[in-house]
Amino acid sequence: MKIIHCPKGHGPMAPKEVRKKKTFKGVDIEYKADLFVCPVCGLEAGTVQTAGAVQCAIADSYREKVGLLTSREIKSLRETKGLTQNQLADAMNVGIASVKRWETGLVQSKSMDQALRIALECNTHSDNYTGNRKMNLPRIKLVAVTLERKLGRRLLKVGDKFLFLAKYLWYADMLAFRHLGKGLTGASYAALPYGPQLNNYRDLVKPIKDANGNDAEPLSDEELRIIDKVAKRFPNDEDVYKAAHQEEIWKQLPTGALIPYSRAGELTGI
Ligand SMILES: [Zn+2]
Repeated sequence: MKIIHCPKGHGPMAPKEVRKKKTFKGVDIEYKADLFVCPVCGLEAGTVQTAGAVQCAIADSYREKVGLLTSREIKSLRETKGLTQNQLADAMNVGIASVKRWETGLVQSKSMDQALRIALECNTHSDNYTGNRKMNLPRIKLVAVTLERKLGRRLLKVGDKFLFLAKYLWYADMLAFRHLGKGLTGASYAALPYGPQLNNYRDLVKPIKDANGNDAEPLSDEELRIIDKVAKRFPNDEDVYKAAHQEEIWKQLPTGALIPYSRAGELTGI
C-alpha cells in the first residue's frame, strides 16, 4: 500500500477506519471511511482509491436511509440471479454504463430503483408498504396519543373511523420514512375514496383504541420532532384532510391499492 506522509512533517500516516457524519441530498447520514491519519496531529488524508470508496460509502448510507437499493445490494442481487451487468441493463432497457455507475455509488432515481427491484425480482414489498418496520398496535396508539397531545384535542373519538387520525398518522409515517428511513408505526396505508387510510382500518379501530402506548418502543427525539411538525402543519382536521386529497401519490393509485413508502419524497402537503 502507498505510504502517505503528514504534510506537517510528522512522518508516515497510519491507515484507519474513520466514522464520519454528513448531510447528503438533505439527509443526515453516517458512514465509514478508510483514510490515512497522522498519529501526531490527527490530520486525515485520502487517496484517489479511498476517495472512490468514500463516495460509494456515502451513497450507500444515504440509500439505506431513504429505502433505495445500495450498490452492494444491486451487485449481489444481480450476481445471485446470475446476470451480467449487460443482461441487467438489457432487462431494464438502460445502458450498461448506468448499471456500472449504480454499482459504484451513483444514486439511482426512485423510478429506476423500482425498475431495478422488478428486474432483480427482489421482494421488498412488505418493507415498502410498512416503512421498514413491523406493524405495531401499541406504537400506533402511542403516535396517536402524542398527536392528540400536540394538537390539544382528541383524535380517537367514540365511533370514529379514523377518517382524520389516519391522515395524521400517514403524514407522520411517511415523513419519518423520508427523514429517518423508517416509519413510526409499521402501518400500511391504502388509497381509499376518502383519502389515505390505514389498510383494513375496520379491523383496526378497536385494537388500536384498546392498545396501550406504554407497551411500545418510546419515541426518539427525532420521531417526536416529526410528529410535532405534522401537528403544527395541520392544526385542524380540515387541513390534513385537504392536503392529503391533493397528494399525487394518493390520486394516482387505484382505489384500495397500498401506498408505497418509497414515494414519501413526493409529498407536497408537508
Ligand atoms: Zn501530522
